[in-house]
Amino acid sequence: MTDDELQTEVAAWLAEHWRPDARETGAEAMAPRRSAWMAAVVEAGWAAPRWPREWHGRGLDDRQARIVEREFAKVRAPGSGQDRSNLWANTLLARGTEALKARLIAPLLRGEVGMCLLYSEPGAGSDLAGIRTRADANGDHYVVNGQKVWTSSAATADYGMLIARTDWDVPKHQGISFFFLPMKQAGVEVRPLRQITDERHFNEVFITDAVVPAENLLGAPGEGWRVLQTALAYERSVMGENARGPRSGAAESKTEEPLIALAREAGALGDPVLRQDIARAIAYKQLNALNTARAKADLKQGTSSPIMSLGKLAMSRILHEEARVRTAILGTASLFEGPAYPRSEDANFLSLNAYFTSIGGGTDQIQRNIIGERVLGLPKEPEVDRDIPFRDVRAG
Ligand SMILES: Cc1cc2nc3c(=O)[nH]c(=O)nc-3n(C[C@H](O)[C@H](O)[C@H](O)COP(=O)(O)OP(=O)(O)OC[C@H]3O[C@@H](n4cnc5c(N)ncnc54)[C@H](O)[C@@H]3O)c2cc1C
Repeated sequence: MTDDELQTEVAAWLAEHWRPDARETGAEAMAPRRSAWMAAVVEAGWAAPRWPREWHGRGLDDRQARIVEREFAKVRAPGSGQDRSNLWANTLLARGTEALKARLIAPLLRGEVGMCLLYSEPGAGSDLAGIRTRADANGDHYVVNGQKVWTSSAATADYGMLIARTDWDVPKHQGISFFFLPMKQAGVEVRPLRQITDERHFNEVFITDAVVPAENLLGAPGEGWRVLQTALAYERSVMGENARGPRSGAAESKTEEPLIALAREAGALGDPVLRQDIARAIAYKQLNALNTARAKADLKQGTSSPIMSLGKLAMSRILHEEARVRTAILGTASLFEGPAYPRSEDANFLSLNAYFTSIGGGTDQIQRNIIGERVLGLPKEPEVDRDIPFRDVRAG
């Protein structure tokens, strides 16, 4: 099919099926319509156009898949491009058993299944290969015991992508397996954690004799670390798109850089120190945008770019710096809180929420280690427990 034929087909399909006014009918009325819409997108093969037809795709190459995505974007219709953005479905398609794929790929693409990541533990975050949650084989299933923490969305999830230790007699990276753990069962207890922003996005998860069928294993037993690398690559590629803005809902200028608009509104635009701060914050953002463009250009030529690994660290610095400058612009007014002070509320929320990016998905310090070792070629950090059986690794 030529590019033009494809574009015509997508545009015609959208013209026939997409009703943009569906967005305007309140959230509740929207729910059944949204699921019907997503079902239609999956059925037509537009949800994951790069995938083979057998898994609801169209077998398109990247260039043609982007034509599909662009047509969806033009009319602001959701649901396409999931072969890039749907972490769960991509990981499952790459490594899942045929039985699990047949059961879950379509519901995942339709957005009907809630998911969470059961990776971090109280004693294993940056050193994720040090996990101590265990999964013991027992006939056609595994029995899981342990504790996870910082699990976003665990309270609503139907399945968790779980890493657990299945072999204690091999070095730490080799004894891990990767599962889709059913969350709605008696052996899984979810306790919400209250965050510094007063939100409750993540949770502790206590797992006691929970059962997971062997067909929910991704990759072979003991291959979990490699499956995790696949999943982490998908996660990192979508992370930048998830940074959050202010939460007060107070209108912000769309035509002007928000920091400049805020300084103008606060009567602080003439302050030479603030002007310098604002200029630096904008320069950080601009620099990162240019670096990202350069990394994408490298990727197009088929080489993976080390510049990409600077992006997450840069995003941390941008978010902290923007929040700091917002606070400086407001001065003592930033001490106020509550709906009567939306600008202060936004500055405070952004200051606290900036830690999200500095910790989640690998801390700033770990990013610096990666850049030092893989980009600058500095000596590797010593790891005394890398090659000994995990059973002999000292805990605590
Ligand atoms: C908003 C948010 C959402 C999250 N969601 C999830 C989720 O859904 N599922 C999940 O499994 N996890 C999730 N996490 C957990 C996250 O991945 C971990 O918090 C992170 O990997 C750090 O691990 P840790 O908290 O155990 O800190 P630690 O690893 O204990 O680190 C503590 C401090 O020591 C530093 N440090 C550690 N090792 C080194 C080293 N080798 N060199 C230099 N410095 C070092 C760290 O940078 C950090 O400052 C989430 C975290 C956040 C903040």
